[in-house]
Amino acid sequence: MVRTRFAPSPTGFMHVGNLRSALYAYLFAKQNKGTFILRIEDTDLERYVEGAVDVIYETLKQSKIKVDEGPNEGGNYGPYVQSERKNVYLEYALKLVETGHAYYCFCDKERLESIKTDNGIKRYDKHCLNLSKEEIEEKLKNHVPYVIRQNMPTEGYSEFTDMVFGHVSIPNNELEDQILIKSDGMPTYNFANVIDDHLMGITHVIRGNEYLSSTPKYNLLYEAFGWEVPKYMHLTPIMKDETRKLSKRHGDANFDDFINKGYLPEAIINYIALVGWSPKGSTQEKFTMEELIEHFSVEGLSKSPGIFDENKMRWLNGEYIKELSFDDFMKYATPYFEKSSIKGLYSYEKFGKLLQPRIEIFSEIIEKVAFINDFHQIPNELYFNKKLKIDEEKAIKVLEECIPALANIEFTEDNLHEVITNVATKLEYKSGVVYTVLRIALSATQVTPGGSVEIADILGKEESMRRLELALSWLK
Ligand code: GLU
Repeated sequence: MVRTRFAPSPTGFMHVGNLRSALYAYLFAKQNKGTFILRIEDTDLERYVEGAVDVIYETLKQSKIKVDEGPNEGGNYGPYVQSERKNVYLEYALKLVETGHAYYCFCDKERLESIKTDNGIKRYDKHCLNLSKEEIEEKLKNHVPYVIRQNMPTEGYSEFTDMVFGHVSIPNNELEDQILIKSDGMPTYNFANVIDDHLMGITHVIRGNEYLSSTPKYNLLYEAFGWEVPKYMHLTPIMKDETRKLSKRHGDANFDDFINKGYLPEAIINYIALVGWSPKGSTQEKFTMEELIEHFSVEGLSKSPGIFDENKMRWLNGEYIKELSFDDFMKYATPYFEKSSIKGLYSYEKFGKLLQPRIEIFSEIIEKVAFINDFHQIPNELYFNKKLKIDEEKAIKVLEECIPALANIEFTEDNLHEVITNVATKLEYKSGVVYTVLRIALSATQVTPGGSVEIADILGKEESMRRLELALSWLK
């Protein structure tokens, strides 16, 4: 039975790299009909952020990553929040002290700072390993602050096989006697991850490869307890470019940043699945969650860092937007109309129809509608068009014919098309000439989403007529 976990620290935001770790752990569990566990790693008390667990839950919910066991769901392996498991870690650390795999360290800051570097590397020198039983008891009795350190072997190699990176071997003399329990009684990540992954029955540990080189140390802990070592899948980081990680400092690396820019959760999930994984023997790029569960494969995981290409994600998002039902589109789009310059002025629905096939992210709505309120004197050159052979004179003729004809009709899309076709026939122009002149005269701009009929329909008869009269007077 496969059991995987996502073990975020509650930082208040969800980096897309973390979300991708969650996604892969979820996909692997579901593909194997296994269990996906959420564990909150909050032992770093200084970094605690109020409400941060809600952010984690909200992100997973929007991403459609369903937690089987966790703080809110419960389960047989709880509690699922590390700060609630404090005593468990201490108990296990003391077991290691008994067997000599760990020891109390009372060194203060000054002593630690005075340790000489060895080939440029500063490592704890096992000083407290030599304390006698009596010395230790004395210090404990006097409440001298202490940490508990892992007693690393000094010879030989620690080796394991990672499912992505293959064989990893590290000389033991490079391993520091890392702290397992801190002076505040809390475990370090280095200790808690082992205890929890074992006690929670995790079969596959899927996480960032910043932990790859520490994994031999964790394996020594498993061995010290006589526990089975889980399987490991370490994931390469998501990069901004060849050399820089996609860091939270860039302000565009967190799930919420992308949601606020107007990305759909489905598109974000689909895209990040592909940064670091690719389906074998297929060029498919658009995946539903069900398809990801089906196609995900360890062999498809990359050993080299994936580069986050926001343009690609934008494109993918545009594809998802096109597929939304119009109602759903409007649900996402309305807040952006509300923030735009057309707030309360023109029909959001009419604009929505124009924009759904034309935008890649929802925040584009704001700039794409702005032209409609920016009607200003139109320079004559704006009408010039080589291909359609439009010049000033033709533009004037078109407007002179259109204005009285439009004044007589009710503004519906059908009526508007009919007038335009009739004018084109009468003047013996291509209908494209009439459409183009009207579009420029109505909008004072050359590029608009939608053509003259849609714009006239949005503006309504009164405003359209006002603009056409003005445009004609400017032309003359
Ligand atoms: N809390 C760790 C992190 O957020 C978890 C790493 C792991 O998955 O083991 O980086």
